[in-house]
Amino acid sequence: MQRELNEECAVAGVFNHKDASKLTYFALFSLQHRGQEAAGISSSDGKKMHTIKDRGLVTQVFDDVKLTTLKGHMAVGHTRYSTAGDDSILDAQPVYARYDLGEMAIVHNGNLTNAQSIRDKLISKGAIFQTFMDTENLIHLIAKSEQGKLVERIIDAVNKIEGAYSLIIQSRSKMFAIRDPHGFRPLSYAKIGEGYMVASETCAYDLVGAEYVRDILPGEMLIFEKGMEPQSLQIMPSTPKHCIFEYVYFARPDSNVYEQNVYTLRKKMGIQLARESAIDADMVIPVPDGGVPAAIGYSQASGIPFEMAIMRNHYVGRTFIEPTQEIRDLKVKMKLSPIKEMIQGKRIIIIDDSIVRGTTSRKIVRMLKDAGAKEVHMRISSPPTTDPCFYGVDTPNKDKLIAANMSLDEIRDYIGADSLAYLSVEGLYASVGGEKSHYCTACFTGEYITS
Ligand code: AMP
Repeated sequence: MQRELNEECAVAGVFNHKDASKLTYFALFSLQHRGQEAAGISSSDGKKMHTIKDRGLVTQVFDDVKLTTLKGHMAVGHTRYSTAGDDSILDAQPVYARYDLGEMAIVHNGNLTNAQSIRDKLISKGAIFQTFMDTENLIHLIAKSEQGKLVERIIDAVNKIEGAYSLIIQSRSKMFAIRDPHGFRPLSYAKIGEGYMVASETCAYDLVGAEYVRDILPGEMLIFEKGMEPQSLQIMPSTPKHCIFEYVYFARPDSNVYEQNVYTLRKKMGIQLARESAIDADMVIPVPDGGVPAAIGYSQASGIPFEMAIMRNHYVGRTFIEPTQEIRDLKVKMKLSPIKEMIQGKRIIIIDDSIVRGTTSRKIVRMLKDAGAKEVHMRISSPPTTDPCFYGVDTPNKDKLIAANMSLDEIRDYIGADSLAYLSVEGLYASVGGEKSHYCTACFTGEYITS
């Protein structure tokens, strides 16, 4: 069985710190938004590795007792997000193995696009796989490499894989942080005491008081070794293609991703959206939480008052977690509730960060109309999502993406809004700044990276 490819995750690692596994736990806790299906940590005490992983949230998988068994001065951790298919704990990370050089544990955020062909080749040579994860390929490639040292074997292995990977690999005494040549997914490192921390997003550092040093560069490997400064090796030429959807939806607003603050950029998207598709109304309302920064920007640029007129129940997970359509529908209602007194008789601009299948927008427009709204104008702070992601974000196949199958007017009618407008691709570029060619915008433009 080939599992669905699409998944988004978080990785974290701590090197040379007496509380390595605890700090990794806190890092994963702050990165929980990137994956709620499973969590895991492998620590190393220099002689032996210890691994705990299971299905569930970080706080469900670990407790004090478990963390004390994760001994050692270094640890790597992972939270997993996946849509359908196999929910076995075998598919949780870190992926751990014993091999001729000792032990290793790998955590991976991203998606390998040539995973199946590599796996087929490995299987034809007798390899046995225990999971459906593309990350398991790497373990085999490293273990089977004909190079001598681990660092050379890792370089050999990553040269064989394609796609998106922000990786942390732990041996019993060293840690390696690697970002693919396009730098699709974020990865940076920070200083904490005498040690170091590596994480998907900088919000992990803020929680534990680590000091951000810099992003790991596309195509770079950082090697952490006791008693030494981190060593940098540019193992592949850098050709940046940072995922722009991290800015639109995925990353936490208090994080700096690709060296820019996410909240600030989302607010700019809202300002730009107001410029591009102004309309007269009584109030601007966000779809919480994703639409909040953009709605503040839209309100400030348009002068139309901002109101939190939809409440969110924070004890319900993201609506994408359960894959069936019926549960998704119910969960929107469980999660979001309108304040009728605010909405009755009003002309409303409702702002969300994206429309994928159209389920959320349709429910919200109906909810606002049922609450007595006079007009509902939907504004989306990103362009239409027209193409699936092969680099690690959970977007469904093209036939499920509403913007790939309907015109703007058809989508407006489907969601039941009085008007609908998206941010333009140019408007998105203008909001995030920087070199346009350095972003991957495939989900909005269909322009995939070919090499
Ligand atoms: P939909 O209901 O399918 O149109 O999904 C749109 C909603 O899901 C929006 O409120 C987005 O904030 C959110 N969303 C967009 N992309 C993702 C994703 N990859 N994972 C989870 N939620 C998402």
